[in-house]
Amino acid sequence: MTSNPNDVTGDGLALAYRAGARLVDMEFMQFYPWRLISYVTGRMPVQPSSFVAGAVLRNADGERFMPRYDPERGDATTRDIAARAIYTEILEGRGVHGGVRLDLSQAPLEEFIRLNPRVGRYFSDHGLDLATAELILAPEAHFLMGGVVIDENGRTSLPGLLAAGEVSGGSDGGNRLDSNAIPAGQVFGRRAGLAAAADAAARGGAGPGQEAVSRWASRFGRRAGQRAPGSPNGAGSGIDRKDIKRRINDLMLRAAGIRRDGARLAEGVRGAAILEADYLASADGPRDALAAIELENMALVASIVVRAAEFRTESRAAHYRDDYPVRDDAHWFANVYACQDADGQMALTKERIE
Ligand SMILES: Cc1cc2nc3c(=O)[nH]c(=O)nc-3n(C[C@H](O)[C@H](O)[C@H](O)COP(=O)(O)OP(=O)(O)OC[C@H]3O[C@@H](n4cnc5c(N)ncnc54)[C@H](O)[C@@H]3O)c2cc1C
Repeated sequence: MTSNPNDVTGDGLALAYRAGARLVDMEFMQFYPWRLISYVTGRMPVQPSSFVAGAVLRNADGERFMPRYDPERGDATTRDIAARAIYTEILEGRGVHGGVRLDLSQAPLEEFIRLNPRVGRYFSDHGLDLATAELILAPEAHFLMGGVVIDENGRTSLPGLLAAGEVSGGSDGGNRLDSNAIPAGQVFGRRAGLAAAADAAARGGAGPGQEAVSRWASRFGRRAGQRAPGSPNGAGSGIDRKDIKRRINDLMLRAAGIRRDGARLAEGVRGAAILEADYLASADGPRDALAAIELENMALVASIVVRAAEFRTESRAAHYRDDYPVRDDAHWFANVYACQDADGQMALTKERIE
């Protein structure tokens, strides 16, 4: 389950990586712990402030379990700890309908509605009573802290390539704080725009490499007219887009989800390579191009994430490994960088943070 719209598929990360830019800390994926999954259809998050206002989580035994995971803050803990706790309760058989219960009996209902107006509106519009409804929450994939390495003006390691927003990495450390992404996107977006304009003026305004454009065009144009009819988005074409997306989702959930370990990560690395080979073999003609590029990018980003998660043999921030459950500052107070080596292979390195 993800909070992101369907078109968030990692295109920017894959394009930058393929062009030769450095990526940083791709193992840090944030999961939002508190998505309401009972009654509602689309995404409806419950705000963290609800837990400060007295809402609590309970498992199938009716236990208020969060103090076991964070004795100091209990339910009002951070996103990474809450996501891990809820996931563990589900994994160990104490889940309720795929999540855990939200208990509002100790929280003033008006305050909960003030903090969660969409939830309040939805329930009143549908004639449901928040006080008696069985509210179930579950975690969802939400935000990637890693991304393309940028300097303070959005310049990447490649001259002429600038980045801002969620495609860039490093500014949130390993665990983004609430509400930082949009302001960061605005600040770095403005700076990157100004830097791009200055750089383009200095270089005479050279456009994107025509060679790269021709390479893609010839690859997907090579069998034009020889294929069965299909829609531009890949449905009914050589590529079964839905099937491959589902396989990538399954792979990422198993290998690089809320809790990770070496064996599952190694399996994920192998799985990502198989996926890449599978859909490349089924890409057939220009009508498949959009689906093929998107899926290729998804599989590439998936493989960078699992490789980086396998590389970092500790637990820190949003990256948690069952086989290395402790934060290890002696070896891993460091950023993990991913880029292509001279042979086009993925190279991972760590650099200590001074
Ligand atoms: C449900 C949800 C709630 C959130 N709530 C908050 C919040 O309250 N506060 C906060 O600070 N952050 C929040 N975030 C995070 C924040 O919204 C995102 O990090 C931020 O919007 C990312 O902005 P962006 O411009 O980098 O990327 P996007 O907003 O994803 O913009 C990228 C654009 O590029 C386009 N695009 C993609 N691929 C291609 C391509 N190949 N060619 C051309 N165009 C392309 C896309 O269509 C899109 O318009 C939330 C995120 C989600 C998913």
